[in-house]
Amino acid sequence: MTQTLSPLEMEIRRIISVAGPMPVAHYMDLCLAHPKYGYYLTREPFGAGGDFTTAPEVSQMFGELVGIWAASVYGMMGKPAQVHLVELGPGRGTMMRDILRATQVVPEFRKALSLHLVEISPKLEQAQREALEGFEVKRHWYRRLEDVPAGPAIIVANEFVDALPVHQAVKQAGGWHERVIGLDKAGNFKLGLAPYPIPHFDRLLPQRVREAPIGSIFEWRTDNLPLEIGRRVRDGGAALVIDYGHARTDIGDTLQAVGGHAFVDPKSAPGTVDITAHVDFEIFGSSAESMGAAIHGPVEQGEFLRRLGIEARAAALKARAPDKAGEIDAAVTRLTQGGRTGMGELFKAMALADPRLGPLPGFVV
Ligand code: SAH
Repeated sequence: MTQTLSPLEMEIRRIISVAGPMPVAHYMDLCLAHPKYGYYLTREPFGAGGDFTTAPEVSQMFGELVGIWAASVYGMMGKPAQVHLVELGPGRGTMMRDILRATQVVPEFRKALSLHLVEISPKLEQAQREALEGFEVKRHWYRRLEDVPAGPAIIVANEFVDALPVHQAVKQAGGWHERVIGLDKAGNFKLGLAPYPIPHFDRLLPQRVREAPIGSIFEWRTDNLPLEIGRRVRDGGAALVIDYGHARTDIGDTLQAVGGHAFVDPKSAPGTVDITAHVDFEIFGSSAESMGAAIHGPVEQGEFLRRLGIEARAAALKARAPDKAGEIDAAVTRLTQGGRTGMGELFKAMALADPRLGPLPGFVV
């Protein structure tokens, strides 16, 4: 039977058989970022032929508005002679390409700019290099944000944080037990609970989570990304994080897997499907704040894009290409409306910035 398993599934089974059931976060990390077999390292996840579509892939307007946001924040920073434009998880490079195109009209920003792209996948790095061909701007790639040189920075990240591993704990009578993935008698992956509760876990939780009923699931991330972002922006920088998630810390199982534009079991076919979990913007913001950054938002993506002028941008595009009017209207709807297929409500934008910058575009009415 084992011959039909993928190399990653064999590897995960091997680890479980020697070390015992593994936390959901460890499983997610292996599925997405295993250096040889991880989802992001082996696949082209985006677009109609891929597994999911992201906002920059829906319409050029998304990246253009993020570009306008970045250029105005650069002005608020006092136009430093050099600024790093950092993107975390740039995917196919579409958003960065649209940012660069839209900011061609702000020459001082463009002159000060160098690009710093943080990407684990060599394949996607190659796609990003191709997408950015032809733009006169210095560019560098890294595997981790920690490796990006220090200096005034504008950091942008769309659908990046949801891909970072998430831990889950389930409330039981005696405390919160970490959720783990083990093997059942037939040798299939099976969700279970660690035998002992996590010591003092309750003390870290907000009251409404502490008082949740038995069986409730709580999710948290242990990466230091919000701390690292806070540290980098507090002295003259800003970061824009857009992702799906909740504005307040709460209970709920949001772990999901997507393959071929459909939801699938996260335990199925490891490495061949995308696994994500919602972003807890409250914790993300307060972690960055603890490093000295000011929090802006979160605001719903629809509201954020409207404040940045998506309607005017759409009207300008339609005037130039009347035959594309239907397509442009559909993109505005998809990006700004709620409901089952809309990205406007579930997705949220949050900025973290040097407190001296004051209110940022998109975060004030
Ligand atoms: N921002 C893009 C892609 C989102 S998908 C868009 O909106 O279309 C997530 C991206 O983050 C991919 O480029 C993926 O390869 C990258 N990624 C995932 N985990 C990462 C990690 N731990 N470090 C660096 N990049 C990562």
